[in-house]
Amino acid sequence: MPLYRYLPAKAPCKLCGDGFEHRQSAQDPALASCPTCGQTVSRVMPQPVNTPKITAPLSISRAKQAGFSVLKRTSNGDFEKQ
Ligand SMILES: [Zn+2]
Repeated sequence: MPLYRYLPAKAPCKLCGDGFEHRQSAQDPALASCPTCGQTVSRVMPQPVNTPKITAPLSISRAKQAGFSVLKRTSNGDFEKQ
């Protein structure tokens, strides 16, 4: 079951602070009031997990422009500058 975060209408609350987490089924209706203090709460929509953007690998010419030496594997297993 997902864990939902609730924020009290008047934060910070003396009893539940700046919110609380409540584990409930995704089908269950959101809590309307804080089970601790009874004041109105609103459910915070769960944030999607931040996935880092996959950047395209630098091309060899871009790497050279950026000052990297680009090494190329030769047939005998050594590396040489391109
Ligand atoms: Zn409270």
